[in-house]
Amino acid sequence: MSTKGLKEFLTDNLNELKGKGLYNTIDPLESANGPVITINGKKLINLSSNNYLGLATDTRLKEAAIKAIRTYGVGAGAVRTINGTFDIHLELEEKLADFKQTEAAIAYQSGFNCNMAAISAVMDQCDAILSDELNHASIIDGCRLSKATVIRYAHSDMEDLRVKAKQAISSGQYDKIMVITDGVFSMDGDIAKLPEIVKIADEMGLITYVDDAHGSGVLGNGAGTVKHFGLSDKIDFQIGTLSKAIGVVGGYVAGRRELIEWLKVRSRPFLFSTSLTPADVAGSIKAIELLTESTALNKKLWENADYLKAGLTKLGFNIGASETPITPCIIGEETKTQAFSTRLYEEGVYAKSIVFPTVPKGTGRVRNMPTAAHTKEMLDEALAIYEKVGKELGIT
Ligand SMILES: *Cc1c(COP(=O)(O)O)cnc(C)c1O
Repeated sequence: MSTKGLKEFLTDNLNELKGKGLYNTIDPLESANGPVITINGKKLINLSSNNYLGLATDTRLKEAAIKAIRTYGVGAGAVRTINGTFDIHLELEEKLADFKQTEAAIAYQSGFNCNMAAISAVMDQCDAILSDELNHASIIDGCRLSKATVIRYAHSDMEDLRVKAKQAISSGQYDKIMVITDGVFSMDGDIAKLPEIVKIADEMGLITYVDDAHGSGVLGNGAGTVKHFGLSDKIDFQIGTLSKAIGVVGGYVAGRRELIEWLKVRSRPFLFSTSLTPADVAGSIKAIELLTESTALNKKLWENADYLKAGLTKLGFNIGASETPITPCIIGEETKTQAFSTRLYEEGVYAKSIVFPTVPKGTGRVRNMPTAAHTKEMLDEALAIYEKVGKELGIT
């Protein structure tokens, strides 16, 4: 018997995806990823970015990035631990620690990389990780990389977490036990029950880890979900991204000084992958400064989110139970969801459909991401298109 060749593997699997309607085609942008985008020469109201505060196109960030390129060049030239650490990397890390109200912070090349870096630097095959079943893919991969035993608990089910934590402790099998959760869950926009998680962790001596990629810049006046609940001194690892609300690219871990010190000598993406570029660092510093000086963009984001949610509800759409600006429009059946998204596109709204297996079968949705950069006129136009397409497809 011969083994399967690469060509056969790729053809079979690609054809299977295409046959099932699960093949994702990518629409390249011909413009910046602002509140209005251009695709194929067509202008669309953009409700799909994670650019929550509009900072990806902010003039002040662009100027800071250009200035950094003039001073430091376009690339960092080395990994952080050889000679790829610039003074601005340290400045960014200090600003992030202040912003998060922790002793220290460490920056990485992406939020995804943070989870590759931080979990396996601390957890190993003698340990266990209690992980919310809806945690982000990068958390799942980070847990696998650590070789710890992963124990999934039902989504935000605190009773299940408590029972499983107790079982893990009484088994006597594990050296350390960590509980890990998204701060904000990106598909439904619900917030992790951090006060209860902290209570359980305190009682049972668990290490706490919150990946707040969708909460930073959004909750707690911008400082994130942990700050929102007033738990800054209770969470061991606070992960954030510089790629969503901050508008640039990169990620960070904020926590106690010894933790950050350990990550700087033991986390592999810090040791073996070239550091953030000067432009990314300078843009991110400027963003943190702006968020520290004023909460105006954060207020505008919530105002726009409330306006969009009220409008969609009034039109009769099911927007689920989001507690954040993430606004799903739950259509249900997969093909209908895709048809709905396509008709929105034809009429001038870019809102991606999200279907099984990303979300459970029968809960297909179009996910709307309002930002601080949208004007009321843009949102009104989007709502008018929703009304038209909703009636046309018999959804409202
Ligand atoms: C988006 C996201 C990431 C990845 O962040 P990047 O900076 O885009 O790599 C990690 N974790 C969660 C929970 C996310 O939502």
